[in-house]
Amino acid sequence: MDTVYEELKNCRSFAIMGGTFDPIHYGHLVTAEVVKHRFGVDKVMFIPTGRPAHKEGKKVVDNEIRYKMTCMATDSNEDFVVSRIEIDRPGKTYSIDTVRALKEMFGPDKKFYFITGADAILDILKWRDPEELLRLCEFIAVTRPGYAKKDVLEQIATIAETYGGRINYYEVPSLDISSSDLRRRVKDGEPIKYLLPENVEKYIYDNGLYKEEE
Ligand code: NAP
Repeated sequence: MDTVYEELKNCRSFAIMGGTFDPIHYGHLVTAEVVKHRFGVDKVMFIPTGRPAHKEGKKVVDNEIRYKMTCMATDSNEDFVVSRIEIDRPGKTYSIDTVRALKEMFGPDKKFYFITGADAILDILKWRDPEELLRLCEFIAVTRPGYAKKDVLEQIATIAETYGGRINYYEVPSLDISSSDLRRRVKDGEPIKYLLPENVEKYIYDNGLYKEEE
């Protein structure tokens, strides 16, 4: 077991915070913190995607760079850990492979939540093996207040009826920040200060990220 997992083996519950994190921002960090508090999980495990299956043909910053920014952003919170599980897995990234691997690593008695954007949840039935995924973990669909609420709640109800999975709907005010808006701001020379941790902001400028068209 990798050292990052070794220190987690006594935890009873985890929230997987899956995302491309291109780049990570305060919306993600606030979400992780409020979910941790609301659902009483021991640790939030940030899992930057490797080669996202659903982003074929889209330009995404290099895996190691997104991993590094995620580590920098979460470093000051002892309840947050970052996993390389998807970064290191060759081929396309499917969440089911990640959840199966974590279940195997930590054992069946640990509780897993999976936090992701409600937009992504709207598509969950198109993910690989959605039924098994819904059986293995409880989902938390996060949105900014009011955003697509009706669509998301309808989709959640349909999934629960069809597959019996549990998906929580959770509104997080600061989710108004988005990675795509941050990339656009950098490209257009607009400020990103106070929207993401200072060390990540500095890293973006020092390394000339997001200066070109997507
Ligand atoms: P995305 O399509 O880039 O994001 C959709 C929306 O959700 C965006 O507004 C995004 O905002 C937000 N979002 C994404 N992750 C979030 C999080 N953890 N907390 C709060 N907001 C979040 O989604 P993605 O980031 O690539 O993927 C999200 C997760 O779903 C990943 O773990 C991915 O592997 C998984 N997924 C799996 C499959 C599959 O297994 N087939 C398919 C799709 C997604 P920002 O852009 O600001 O983050």
